[in-house]
Amino acid sequence: KDGQKSGDKKVLNVGTEATFIPFEFMEKGEVTGFDVDLLNAVAEEAGYEVKIENTGWDAMLAGLQGGQIDIGMAGITMTDERKKTYDFSKPYFESIGMIAFKEGADIKSAEDIKGKKIGVQNGTTGQFNAEEVVGENSPDISKYESAALMFQALQSDNVDVVVTDKAVAEAYKKKYPDSNIQTITDDKAFAIEHYGIAFQKGSELKAEFDQALDTILDNGKYAEIYKKWFDG
Ligand code: GLN
Repeated sequence: KDGQKSGDKKVLNVGTEATFIPFEFMEKGEVTGFDVDLLNAVAEEAGYEVKIENTGWDAMLAGLQGGQIDIGMAGITMTDERKKTYDFSKPYFESIGMIAFKEGADIKSAEDIKGKKIGVQNGTTGQFNAEEVVGENSPDISKYESAALMFQALQSDNVDVVVTDKAVAEAYKKKYPDSNIQTITDDKAFAIEHYGIAFQKGSELKAEFDQALDTILDNGKYAEIYKKWFDG
């Protein structure tokens, strides 16, 4: 059920949304990023091979539910709602919502997105955070299929602000220093989030990957990967 064998290692099918820099993005036709390095290290420790495919966000979650995908790895926040449908590893990264906007938009807190045109990635905590402030079904919220399309909407002034994850907004700002993007978070409006590796409900992989995650947290491998992507 968990994929075919290659040599003596089981191959696990992994879905992701590869426009979520620096966690997963395409480079020279390959999915790369913090999540990719981390998952490869954890899977190796657990004795598996992983085949990571850029399925997109919605197809990743659907495939995980339908059983075509063994693992979802996409900076996925472990929410109570999602825990009803998927099992998650131990937390591997801490995040919080972040608002990105062009210089001059005068955004100082989450409240200031009221009355603005807001871009979010569909079905993500960015959407849920924005809805907490301006209301579900607000006509001011535009939902995009990927993080890339959401940022494109901001660049082309189709929206005034986007609500996304902290490290992703910061990476975007760093990657495009001429884009005049500014970022703020608001720890009164937004809750701390934790990313987890997603499995099918009841998957035996969870225990194996949790143990492997513990090992690479202890042996310095996690720290090495973290340094490569966040302190480099
Ligand atoms: N962490 C956010 C969520 O889980 C966004 C993830 C993503 O866009 N890849 O909803």
